[in-house]
Amino acid sequence: MGQHQSVIVIGGGVVGSSIAWHIARRGESVTLLEARSIAAVASGASAGGVRQQGRDPREMPLAIAAIERWRTLEDELEADLHYYRNGHLVVYATADEVEAGRKSVETQRQLGLEIEMVEGPALAELAPGLAPEFVAGSYTLNDGHADPTRTTQSFARAAERSGAVIREGSEVERLLLDGDRVIGVETKGEKLYADHVVIAAGAWARELVRPLSIDLPFEAHGLQMLLTRPMPALLKQVVGAAGRPLSLKQLREGNYLIGGGWPGDIDMVSGKGRVREQSVQGSFETASGVFPELRKTEVERSWVGIEAISPDGVPIIGNAPGYTGLVIAAGFSGHGFALSPTTGQLVSELVLDGAPSISLDAFAVDRFDAGDSVQRIVPSAG
Ligand SMILES: Cc1cc2nc3c(=O)[nH]c(=O)nc-3n(C[C@H](O)[C@H](O)[C@H](O)COP(=O)(O)OP(=O)(O)OC[C@H]3O[C@@H](n4cnc5c(N)ncnc54)[C@H](O)[C@@H]3O)c2cc1C
Repeated sequence: MGQHQSVIVIGGGVVGSSIAWHIARRGESVTLLEARSIAAVASGASAGGVRQQGRDPREMPLAIAAIERWRTLEDELEADLHYYRNGHLVVYATADEVEAGRKSVETQRQLGLEIEMVEGPALAELAPGLAPEFVAGSYTLNDGHADPTRTTQSFARAAERSGAVIREGSEVERLLLDGDRVIGVETKGEKLYADHVVIAAGAWARELVRPLSIDLPFEAHGLQMLLTRPMPALLKQVVGAAGRPLSLKQLREGNYLIGGGWPGDIDMVSGKGRVREQSVQGSFETASGVFPELRKTEVERSWVGIEAISPDGVPIIGNAPGYTGLVIAAGFSGHGFALSPTTGQLVSELVLDGAPSISLDAFAVDRFDAGDSVQRIVPSAG
């Protein structure tokens, strides 16, 4: 492509920030418009799990590619992302769960994942502190976690260093059209034009494309997190448990971070969530049942992030049907943080080259049937 191209990215979450950086590092002109501040919504509230295990088969190629990118991401972004590659462990208690776990390990191996079953005393050795009823676990050594706010801000800062313009407090009110071509955006009192517009506006993407008669059939949900007081270092892996809404990890400073898709309330105007006491109790009880060590500490802080959940639980990434100059990347359904390096790369390729290096067909905007809606809340965010 000889001629320089210009791109506007709407949304400064981890998805938009990564896209902006991947475009800027290729020397193309990019402006990122963020209504609030970088990492203000889902990306700042996230559990930060960086896993391949348990992915929908459609997401597995992206997740495997992303884990390769995470290997070098701190160097690429010149930042400490608090990235730990100490494994992801899903634990099983009953014979039925163990049997289902073995089958799932086999299926995931066939999808190209490095995953193993750890059973009996080997499990307690691998992850001391688990409740004794857990007799087996499926383990992916290369999975882990990172700090989501640091990562999002580091994408944005790296984009700026490569020439991107990042504007916080800049809300896009509508898209500008010339026939069926999207030619720019309008913020309060200002029109901005570009060759391409990318919508990475998380739970607000649906509203932005509604005037174009495109329905993104996802729903905004509040997902809740808990942070405990710091404890001595013990847990290395990210832990989930079959049939229980749980994601558990211990952070660098010793605090445990607990999630798993527990619901909270949301306010779409402020972009903020409100904690439900019932969810705090349910989440802490679930986590303590799997990892009793938690009973020695208490919850220090809790919060709710707003996430767009799609009807089939996988994201919506691709060209907007019926229009040129418009790409959508939204609806990451509780697990978009881990994919962010790859999402940014593939969307930048789609925008600048017309085709991504890994197929995004499974995530097409128009894959849903009329009337599809979200049937279930995501069982386990992270
Ligand atoms: C509690 C919780 C735990 C999670 N745990 C994990 C996990 O362990 N692992 C994992 O991989 N994923 C996890 N996720 C999911 C992951 O965090 C999200 O998929 C990801 O952050 C989505 O990023 P985003 O950029 O699409 O959305 P957001 O971070 O929501 O960013 C969208 C941005 O667009 C801005 N915006 C909206 N409208 C406009 C407009 N009109 N003009 C300008 N800007 C606009 C918003 O202000 C917002 O900052 C979790 C999510 C939550 C909420």
